[in-house]
Amino acid sequence: ASAFGIPKALKQLGIKDTNHGTSTGNKHFGDGELIHSHSPVDGKKIASVTTTTAADYEKVITTAHDTFKEWRMMPAPQRGEIVRQFGEELRRLKEPLGKLVSYEMGKSYQEGLGEVQEMIDICDFAVGLSRQLHGLTMHSERPGHRMYEQYHPLGVVGIISAFNFPVAVWAWNTALAWVCGDVCIWKPSEKTPLCGVACQNIIATVLKENGLPEGISCLINGDYKVGEMMTTDSRIPLISATGSTRMGKIVASKVGERLGKSLLELGGNNAIIVTPDADVKMTVIGAVFGAVGTAGQRCTSTRRLIIHESMYDQVKNAVVDAYKQLKIGNPLDENNHVGPLIDKDAVKGYQNALEKVVQEGGKVIVEGGMLSGNGYESGCYVKPAIAEAQNDFEIVQHETFAPVLYLLKYSGDVNNALELQNGVKQGLSSAIMTNNLREAERFLSVAGSDCGIANVNIGTSGAEIGGAFGGEKDTGGGRESGSDAWKVYMRRQTNTINYTTELPLAQGIKFDL
Ligand code: NAD
Repeated sequence: ASAFGIPKALKQLGIKDTNHGTSTGNKHFGDGELIHSHSPVDGKKIASVTTTTAADYEKVITTAHDTFKEWRMMPAPQRGEIVRQFGEELRRLKEPLGKLVSYEMGKSYQEGLGEVQEMIDICDFAVGLSRQLHGLTMHSERPGHRMYEQYHPLGVVGIISAFNFPVAVWAWNTALAWVCGDVCIWKPSEKTPLCGVACQNIIATVLKENGLPEGISCLINGDYKVGEMMTTDSRIPLISATGSTRMGKIVASKVGERLGKSLLELGGNNAIIVTPDADVKMTVIGAVFGAVGTAGQRCTSTRRLIIHESMYDQVKNAVVDAYKQLKIGNPLDENNHVGPLIDKDAVKGYQNALEKVVQEGGKVIVEGGMLSGNGYESGCYVKPAIAEAQNDFEIVQHETFAPVLYLLKYSGDVNNALELQNGVKQGLSSAIMTNNLREAERFLSVAGSDCGIANVNIGTSGAEIGGAFGGEKDTGGGRESGSDAWKVYMRRQTNTINYTTELPLAQGIKFDL
């Protein structure tokens, strides 16, 4: 770790050996049990974080609630100015934070830096948005009346995030929520608690320099039980939860029971359709990066390659050849393409998938397996694998969060490929590789991809912050980040003002006294 500057990065980010995992901004407290964060890169303990007890949580939620009353009174562009300064701090600390993401989560250093860049980008977006929280005006049917709508903040927003994007998902939510006038409480994944502490330290400096009260940015830590403190708490009008579909179903029902709102960003089972008109070189780059990038641990990772029978052997051979070039190892070393999985449980999930696909009649064509020996001591490194399979195999229908790519063959026209692509429960990301306008437009049409993201001549993974991000069906239906995703963090109010001396009723109803 020291060869890659990790101790220095931890110091720059204010990470100590033991850290308070509960915070209301500058005040860090709590003495709950410790989570020890081990790096999947080398298996070493990085540092520890205290979990949040029920009493700590109560302090956090009451502080957040009280502060919301002040924060909402600050004009939105002034809140935008705070987010601008936050973006500046992120620029200053991009390298150490990118390194910590890489070391604690296991993605490549380049992807760690990319994640921080996404945080910076969403801050820039939010700053502009802070002057554009527009509502519409409408023409009233009644004379001397004016009608318009405005957006007000919701209150306390609870954020629950997954291990695989340990910092960006928080920023996607907070940067927007803050300019909207909300305050936030974040529970990061218990697998990446130090990323949470580091981000909280960064925003705390900005809040302190601006003399702002405690409660605008809060952190809590622990497993699902700590998450449940928020999902069952009616003082939190919106829960934004990113993670597995299993988690999303539980969160949705807890939040739904109290008629709260939930924004769900759940699992994917993403496919690239390769038609007879595909550019094979582009297909290979898109598919290989999509399948092995972040060791297959992106919600948008490519899991299925649906190839036309006329291209099947050519594409298969090109992808298999490309896999031979892959270097697996320490993700902080920029010569490596593939880093470790998050933990040994994930390795088991990967091994089960490879066993299962064979049991179901599939054929492994790029052998997988766990790596051991020098450089692989953490026991989390696996070989990216490819199997030929059928779409209706149970394992193909399931999201395995690891570098396992399934090849599926289709014949006939693109509609047959679309049927396979849409024939899974998840609906996050999808792509088609084609130079045929008819196929591309069919794919994007109402009868095409049923996913929240549909790309032409681009792979399934890697989205820009300017668009709304999210997916349908078992992916949860939420949208975050760009476009008008901000509206979910606000409540809409329709206002009608009568500036006459009469009181006419809508729909011309007569009511004379
Ligand atoms: P996970 O579901 O195990 O955990 C996610 C978070 O939910 C963690 O913070 C966890 O503590 C919390 N949690 C779990 N059960 C809970 C409960 N009952 N109540 C409250 N909180 C609870 O997911 P993971 O393994 O960290 O992440 C991988 C999954 O996340 C994959 O399925 C991936 O596709 C998905 N993901 C989706 C998106 C997206 O935008 N759609 C983005 C990233 C990851």
